[in-house]
Amino acid sequence: MSFSVRPPSSHFLSRLTAIVGADNAIADPAEQAPYLSEWRDLYMGRTPLIVKPASTDEVSRMLALANAEGVGIVPQGGNTGLVGGQIPREAGGEIVLSLKRMRQIRHVDPAGTSMTVEAGLTLAEAQDAARKAGRLFPLGLASEGSATIGGNLATNAGGHQVLAYGAMRALVYGLEVVLADGSVWDGLRALKKDNTGYDLRDLFVGSEGTLGIITAATLKLFPEPDERTTAFVSLPTAEALLPFYQLAERRAGAALTAFEFMADLIVSFVVRHIPSTRRPLADDAPWFVLLELSGAEGSTATLMERLLGDAAEAGLVTDGVVAQSLTQAQDLWKLRESASEAQKGEGGSIKHDISVPIARVPEFLSKAQEAVQRVCPGARPVPFGHFGDGNVHYNISQPPGMARADYLALWDAMAHAVHDVAVSLGGSISAEHGIGRLKVAELVRVKNPVEIELMRRVKEALDPKGILNPGKLLAP
Ligand code: FAD
Repeated sequence: MSFSVRPPSSHFLSRLTAIVGADNAIADPAEQAPYLSEWRDLYMGRTPLIVKPASTDEVSRMLALANAEGVGIVPQGGNTGLVGGQIPREAGGEIVLSLKRMRQIRHVDPAGTSMTVEAGLTLAEAQDAARKAGRLFPLGLASEGSATIGGNLATNAGGHQVLAYGAMRALVYGLEVVLADGSVWDGLRALKKDNTGYDLRDLFVGSEGTLGIITAATLKLFPEPDERTTAFVSLPTAEALLPFYQLAERRAGAALTAFEFMADLIVSFVVRHIPSTRRPLADDAPWFVLLELSGAEGSTATLMERLLGDAAEAGLVTDGVVAQSLTQAQDLWKLRESASEAQKGEGGSIKHDISVPIARVPEFLSKAQEAVQRVCPGARPVPFGHFGDGNVHYNISQPPGMARADYLALWDAMAHAVHDVAVSLGGSISAEHGIGRLKVAELVRVKNPVEIELMRRVKEALDPKGILNPGKLLAP
């Protein structure tokens, strides 16, 4: 399979501009800049035009034109993606299609079980709309103020509530998608059961803008728990993580809604670099867990107390603090949610987002540490993540004093080493951030060739000219 897309003619650019209106077509490089770089500063794209449609019809008309001309289109939501999928390539021939103006809440179901929103609504706005309807939309990410529902769907975003509610794929009933040729698939159904053939919705979730542009979604809403109790505890070893998690599952059952772990070094980075943070526990420990119980009024504090008491007795937990107010709970969450930001203060960081079966997380941590030191002695792993999902953000800060560029030049060698450990333990090289540009070559290296071939056939069937997000997810 080889797709070739053409640079756009000035006539084509004028026709796109006419569809969205001159105010919503950005050609000025200074105005374009925020759309062309990303959070990790790994990619700096170029484009002749950024278009910001206001409706599904405008998206449809632009894709019909692009398909006819063979011009590449890069969908973009909040531009918080961590693998470069939302950034056009440097050659400069691709159009960026930003969904930011499509922010309508189209419908909230009277029974409060679903809500239909447009793709450019931010996750925080969607959570807020659910709250106003007395319901919960549970997806939560540190980037939720900017990340959009369309981007969350296109990346099948995870976050800290996956343990209880699942990733984005589990939180959506139906989609509206504009296909490469401009036709619109209206799949906005709110059905819990629908066995009428292939699951088209699930094809688009996690497709990273390579199969269609998601313009709206019918999301699942849940009851808001009466209360939450949050605790931050220290553990003596990585080996204590699994039995502590199993104890928490056994005692709390469905009330266990978060179980996030952090290495000591990443907690140090957070308190060093993020204002208004401090260590919540007096003594040092190698590992920490932030856990949250949610449930009926008056139930979770007692449950947490009993759980932590049993864990301490079993030697799984050495110290802990339970938040006594919403502010204290927010302070504990801030430690975890600032983990990505805090690494910026420590120079270059090479990042991995792997998953392994949870019983193998401690083995992964020890084998990956050895593999990293073989590639770069003195490099500093700062693992943290969603233990209950077996998802480790295995980020590695540079050795102090090393030149940032020299360290980042080791990215591929480091990624090979860390990914090989994950794959050898039955794991994945991307638990929640996707493939984007960053992992295109790695995907081919580690994924089963039959799966890659099936993915290529799906791409060819839905986007025969290869205009949608060229060069992302699958190698061109
Ligand atoms: P963008 O970055 O704009 O795009 C991401 C991808 O989706 C691109 O390939 C793009 O082409 C495609 N896309 C965007 N919109 C559409 C659309 N409407 N139709 C089709 N394709 C589209 N991710 C997690 O999963 N879990 C986390 O806990 C998490 N934490 C984060 C914390 C921080 C501080 C940051 C910066 C990022 C974090 N992320 C996390 C990554 C990121 O926020 C998610 O991937 C998010 O879902 C991206 O949404 P977005 O709207 O910003 O998408």
